[in-house]
Amino acid sequence: MWSASVFTLYPDMFPGPLGQSMSGTALGNGLWSLEAIDIRDHGLGRHRAVDDTPAGGGPGMVLRADVLANSLDARLAADDPRPRLLLSPRGETLTQKLARRWADGPGIVLVCGRFEGVDERVIEGRGLTEISIGDYILSGGEIAALTLLDACVRLLPGVMGKLESGEDESFENGLLEYPHYTRPREWEGRSIPDVLLSGDHAKIAKWRRAQAEDLTRARRPDLWAARETE
Ligand code: SAH
Repeated sequence: MWSASVFTLYPDMFPGPLGQSMSGTALGNGLWSLEAIDIRDHGLGRHRAVDDTPAGGGPGMVLRADVLANSLDARLAADDPRPRLLLSPRGETLTQKLARRWADGPGIVLVCGRFEGVDERVIEGRGLTEISIGDYILSGGEIAALTLLDACVRLLPGVMGKLESGEDESFENGLLEYPHYTRPREWEGRSIPDVLLSGDHAKIAKWRRAQAEDLTRARRPDLWAARETE
């Protein structure tokens, strides 16, 4: 079974929203598994301290290398094949391609940072790969971890209602998705484009493709350029 182990100071944040809807049903049906491990179980002293002041000075606190490493070592077998990912604004940005790669594997190990971040030595010493969910700063890695998990879990076999609904989506083919419509046929003076009501599936596919291309060119020149060079 595809399994996720999340190291966090806030285990109660999991499964959180992933316990609802498609991913929640799939979790209940054993299509994937999730364990949230409290890093503080390996905290030091009476107060179970996990952080300390930054070497060299400056604001905030840093998650200690020894505490995090002890937590990882206690819960992960040396031959655990899953990629070990640290949520971090410095990392490679999460993409659909990465989500699909991880979904196709045995699962993932996620480490959620807090405070100013994590002691650099544990990133090196435990081979953590930094992954960002975008160019902005969150207060902790938990919501980023939930985002990354959601992107992976919905791709697991049996999780999504229809297999197709994975393949037509934005980014899967390097394009943004075409616009959607449903009933009613007329709404506030706006109609569904005629072609979608024509029943001509080849024509519909062609129209959708053209819409997707126009949208991508207009909104995401970076994606459009990347396609042309592929
Ligand atoms: N001082 C750091 C930010 C720390 S934010 C810096 O300037 O880069 C605290 C934690 O939140 C991080 O350790 C990380 O785990 C998480 N986090 C914040 N923003 C994130 C993002 N965009 N993607 C993934 N994780 C993020």
